[in-house]
Amino acid sequence: MPSCPECENSLDIELDEVEEGDVVVCDECGTEYEVVGLEPLELTRVDDDLDEDDDDLVDEEEEEE
Ligand SMILES: [Zn+2]
Repeated sequence: MPSCPECENSLDIELDEVEEGDVVVCDECGTEYEVVGLEPLELTRVDDDLDEDDDDLVDEEEEEE
């Protein structure tokens, strides 16, 4: 049983019920992990890899009227 790197809670993952690309959520801290491998089970955090270029990179146009 893998454990959550964030809070060391045991992640309740049934190997029969997940496949690569599935996202599992830690019950304790809510961190999301994507299944990237099954034998052996490998997880990667979801929220580190997101390129959030929607919010921060928008040019701030001053529209004052
Ligand atoms: Zn956790």
